[in-house]
Amino acid sequence: IRQKIVAGNWKMNGSEASISDLVSGLLEISESSAEVVVTPPFPYLSQVAELIAPRNELVLAAQNLSQYEKGAYTGEVSAAMLTDFKVTYVLIGHSERRSLYGETDEVVAEKVKVALSAGLKPILCIGETLEEREAEQTLLVCERQVAAVIDAVGIQAFENIVIAYEPVWAIGTGLSASAQQAQDVHQAIRANLASLSTPVSEKVQILYGGSVKASTSAELFTMPDVDGALVGGASLDAKEFLDIVKAAG
Ligand code: 13P
Repeated sequence: IRQKIVAGNWKMNGSEASISDLVSGLLEISESSAEVVVTPPFPYLSQVAELIAPRNELVLAAQNLSQYEKGAYTGEVSAAMLTDFKVTYVLIGHSERRSLYGETDEVVAEKVKVALSAGLKPILCIGETLEEREAEQTLLVCERQVAAVIDAVGIQAFENIVIAYEPVWAIGTGLSASAQQAQDVHQAIRANLASLSTPVSEKVQILYGGSVKASTSAELFTMPDVDGALVGGASLDAKEFLDIVKAAG
C-alpha cells in the first residue's frame, strides 16, 4: 500500500508575514496517514524550515532547482543549497517551468538526475495541454515526458521519484479533471512503468494536480491509482488545505 502525499505548491505567492501565518495555520494539523508537504518560494525556505522543525509534521519541498552543480549560473539555486535547508522534495518540470521558462524534457531529466545525486526526491510533473488532450495525445505526451527521465536515470531510480500528473488545462482554471479522468491517466502511467519493472510501478506514488479543492478531493482519493494531490491555489488557505489532507485519511 502506497502512502498518500498531499503537497501544497505555493508558487510565487506570499511574504514573510503571510507565510508565517500560513504555517501557523498548517501546524494545527491533526494526525494524518498522509505525508504533508509544503513548497514555499526559495527565499522563505529557511523561515519555513525553522517554523516546522519543532513539530516534525510537515515536510519541506522546493519549487525548482538548477540542472548544474555550481558555478557561473546567475539567479539559479543548486541541489546542494536545497539540502542545507532540510528540503526533502523538489518539484521538477512543472508545466509553468516548461511553458514559461522553456524547460525541455532533456533539461527536466538533467534536473531529476542532479536532485537524486544530492539525495533530494524529485516530484516529476507531467501532463498534457488542452490541445494535446483534444488530439487524443494525453498518454503519448505523459509517456514521452516520463521516458526522457527514464533514459537519463533508469527505471530503478523511480523508487525515489514521485510523479505528479497535472493536466495543463486544469491548472489554475478551476476546471479539475474528474476523478475518473485522473484515474485513467494514472493507471496508464503505472502500466507503462510496469512494462519495465512491476515492483517499481507498484511503489511509485502518482499525485494528481490541477484545481484540487477540499470539495473534490475525497472522491479523487478513492481512486486506486491516485496516491495524493499536488495543490496550488487551495494550498494558500490553511483550512482548505488541511481539509484536503483530512480527505486523504
Ligand atoms: P492549482 O491547484 O492552482 O490549479 O495549481 C495546480 C498546480 O500547478 C500545482 O503544482
